[in-house]
Amino acid sequence: MSKITCKVVQDLLPLYVDEVLSDDSINIVDEHLDTCEQCTQFAENLKESPVKIQPAENADEAAALKKIKKKLSKKQIKTAALTALGVIVLAAGLFYGLVFMEWYIPYDESAVCLSDDGRALVTARAHYCCYGASFLPYEEDGTKFFYLTTTAFSELTWNHEESGLYNVDSDTTLLKEIYYVPREYAHIIKDGFPMPIATTEERKVKIEELKSVSVLVWQAPDSARS
Ligand SMILES: [Zn+2]
Repeated sequence: MSKITCKVVQDLLPLYVDEVLSDDSINIVDEHLDTCEQCTQFAENLKESPVKIQPAENADEAAALKKIKKKLSKKQIKTAALTALGVIVLAAGLFYGLVFMEWYIPYDESAVCLSDDGRALVTARAHYCCYGASFLPYEEDGTKFFYLTTTAFSELTWNHEESGLYNVDSDTTLLKEIYYVPREYAHIIKDGFPMPIATTEERKVKIEELKSVSVLVWQAPDSARS
């Protein structure tokens, strides 16, 4: 067996401790350790705190990988943010559509009719009345125009069996007639007549036009007699 120096053994010792040496190499190191206290001590130290060998290339690769991961996660964050934004916009649209978007309720006797004594308007879909009914007062001839709207939310959640009243007797104007306005004219009740036709004469013409296309749902008993 050729003489082997401490330097060579100490080069081999990290691999020896990691148990990756061939049997021949192990035998050589063992033989040396039997006779050399310095190398034995070196081996002991290695076992206690093993040296981790990390080639420079690996460090570079790790850095590159880290960079790619960072880029990827930036992209992922962007995608996630856009997705979240999309979901929020969709939810907001859905919320608006459900809660605020009003749908005109076409006239029929299940939507609105007269009470038995003829002194009140009964809406079978009571709750719509709370916010959906509008009157266009035209005090001069005692006419009012009326329509109902609903939202998808109230359609879904409110009990339609209950009925609500619009008490005609409690109206302080000299009410003579109530009409139910068709869909195409509902905006006039909501927004009023546009200013260019807001003179009294033009209003009267418009009122007559509204009457002619609307459904008469209530009439004052005395005016019916006359
Ligand atoms: Zn030695």
